[in-house]
Amino acid sequence: MAEKKTAEEIWAGVLTCLSNELEHSKFESWIRPITPVSVENKTFVIATKDTLSRDWVRERFSSLICKALKDTTRRSYNLNIVLKKDLSEDFLQRKNQLEKKFAQKVVEPKSGMKLTTREGAIPQVKPVFNEFQIDALKSTSYNLNLKYTFDNFVVGENNKFAHAAAMAVAKEPAKLHNPLFIYGGTGLGKTHLMHAIGHYILVNHPRLKIKYTNTEVFMNDLISCIQSGSNSTFKMSEFRQKYRNVDVLLLDDVQFLESKKTTQTEIFHTFENLYNSGKQIVLTSDRPPKEIPTLTDRLRSRFEWGLLADISAPDFETRVSILKKKTEIEKLNVSDDVLKLIASAYSHNVRELEGALNRVIAYCSINSLPVVPDVVKNIVEVSAPKNLSVEDIVDIVAEYFKIDADEIMSPSKSKDVSKARQISIYLIRETMGYSFPKIGEALGGRKHTTVLYSYEKVKEEKLHNIALSKTIDEIAGILSKI
Ligand code: ADP
Ligand code: MG
Repeated sequence: MAEKKTAEEIWAGVLTCLSNELEHSKFESWIRPITPVSVENKTFVIATKDTLSRDWVRERFSSLICKALKDTTRRSYNLNIVLKKDLSEDFLQRKNQLEKKFAQKVVEPKSGMKLTTREGAIPQVKPVFNEFQIDALKSTSYNLNLKYTFDNFVVGENNKFAHAAAMAVAKEPAKLHNPLFIYGGTGLGKTHLMHAIGHYILVNHPRLKIKYTNTEVFMNDLISCIQSGSNSTFKMSEFRQKYRNVDVLLLDDVQFLESKKTTQTEIFHTFENLYNSGKQIVLTSDRPPKEIPTLTDRLRSRFEWGLLADISAPDFETRVSILKKKTEIEKLNVSDDVLKLIASAYSHNVRELEGALNRVIAYCSINSLPVVPDVVKNIVEVSAPKNLSVEDIVDIVAEYFKIDADEIMSPSKSKDVSKARQISIYLIRETMGYSFPKIGEALGGRKHTTVLYSYEKVKEEKLHNIALSKTIDEIAGILSKI
């Protein structure tokens, strides 16, 4: 039995898991500031600096944290979130000392733990954050993650078109593809390519001004300008300077624009302004412009003016290469067999794939186990998403609603069948990442617009309809067990 781990040691493993699973900005804003407090029986206690972070972490991240705790320790914990100000002075002092000691232990490159494998090789398990990551965390001036360069991007069949287009734009901004619109499922490398364009331009066209932003940030920025009362005219002109006085605008995740009329108008004018002055615009989204239902026509047509490039899920070989690249960058010594094992379990999302590698490293390091296939197999089996088929989902949903699976595939418009069909569509999209046309085809040849409508309806309704949200969670729970 391994010796009992402290909250700090376990938390270091959790950070390693989450640093890859979450977007950089979310990780830095919400997870890094958390202090691990204690681990007792089945409760893991963490502290946040104020009530806003506590509520946000509880609402958005508690299930992810619990999963990372489980992946790191193989135990289920209840998460208790307290406020730092409620911790005693004495406790904080002890904590400070412990954290200093622990920070040295995890950050110093020399502290990498040597493990012996059965084959006799000695893989070096590296510290939780290496120098590269630390540098990346410091790169704030342009909001670009230093890790996301062309050099670190693995080109495969799934992304070679988008990669070539991004490269062309980076080499000759505003010459060939304007705007460049990159789309594809979550965790497939869109933000990575966008940042890579940014880095390339910073180095090779140092006179050009670039601006990277996420659509949500743009939106919040705009709202705070509008709400700044008597100061709003001045604030708005500052805002416009910021986004229009650039040579290259990189706008990430434009799918967030749906149903945001004011932001759409502002983006339209920003677009017009930049485009007409011969500036480069790069956009990303989780779907093509025509599948963002409430996008105004004038904006949709502009998004389609240049080049649309999609990224799909990587094949097995590419997944192995991505993992290999990551081990090279982070100087991890992990055998090809282990990488193949992980690559075979994760197929839809590169972020999850990288997260799985991190979890394996964290788990083996914390439990002093060798990183060998026999050990890794158990860890990967525990956390890998199941290889579900459309039939599995339709069967389980039909059983849940006590109807026949064929009815879901049929044209029937009865209330129960329609509801079951909509939920099936939602679950297929969420768990398998299928495109809307592909779901339509799999469900008896339905139009992709109908499928899209059903998906959006469930996604929207789930936010305020507790019964529906519970139903979906229950079905997802059953699916995770098959
Ligand atoms: P998206 O923006 O599409 O949701 P990201 O660009 O954030 O996805 O990618 C998720 C993670 O996967 C990042 O850590 C990124 O570096 C990595 N990744 C995705 N595709 C590749 C690739 N082809 N080569 C190397 N890393 C990749
Ligand atoms: Mg992204």
